[in-house]
Amino acid sequence: MINSSGFKFYEGKMPCEICGLSARNKLCEGCVNGAKAIHALLTSTKSDNSSANTRGPVNNSTNHAANTSSSNLSVSKGFTLALRRASEMKEKVNYLSSCLNAFKGQVHKDILVKPGNNGPSIAAHKSLLSANSVIFKFMLDSDACKAPPGHTITLAELSYLELHALLEFLYRGELPKEKLEKHVYTLSIAADKYEIKLLQKYCEHHMLGSLNTSNALELLEISETYKSYSHLKVEAMIFIIKNVEGIVFTPKFDAFAVENPHLAVQITRASVVTNKNKKHKV
Ligand SMILES: [Zn+2]
Repeated sequence: MINSSGFKFYEGKMPCEICGLSARNKLCEGCVNGAKAIHALLTSTKSDNSSANTRGPVNNSTNHAANTSSSNLSVSKGFTLALRRASEMKEKVNYLSSCLNAFKGQVHKDILVKPGNNGPSIAAHKSLLSANSVIFKFMLDSDACKAPPGHTITLAELSYLELHALLEFLYRGELPKEKLEKHVYTLSIAADKYEIKLLQKYCEHHMLGSLNTSNALELLEISETYKSYSHLKVEAMIFIIKNVEGIVFTPKFDAFAVENPHLAVQITRASVVTNKNKKHKV
């Protein structure tokens, strides 16, 4: 049966957990379809999306999911709005990435960025560097007073490949997985040093996802040294305490404790407290 708002309505056994309409299971058909449609929209590639016509507004009839998938599915009211928002956001992202591509391709690059070790310089746009980092902005503004346009800034702590990855991130807002995995520590340090907020978040997210017994001490050390990563520090510490036996009886920990005595003390104290709490619970 169809209810007054035009959505399929089941003489159901329970209310849908999202919209409250009667549903056969926890979610009504409209919400399930809506969730599928949003997922399809967000995971579709740019080329899919141009053929699927996401430009038009999502209408209020029962087949708005047709905009993002080939099936004619009914979508509940709340999801209609969410789907429209997701569609608009995706259009915005596509618009911005095409702007950036145009920007990246254009010839009027006005700054050379030089890595350490006498590596080759990479041309970039001052405006892009300044927009993403107050430190770059400061370097470029103060350099502009004494140097002509088209001059060079040097990021001596980065190798050519690391610098290339940093600039690629600034132009694209993301990095291929392999490149990120290879350079994440260096990039996280550069993101902290040059105050590139988006790159800090991106690196921290990746480091949190990769936390394991073999890198936990390294990640704790990074998060202790570079203050942008306070969330990582908490998570790394919790992880180490949970897996303390597998971590502290290793040669890696011996070396770590020599380099970071204060962190070794923190780990010891936290383990003692955790053990004590466990005993009290038993
Ligand atoms: Zn529902």
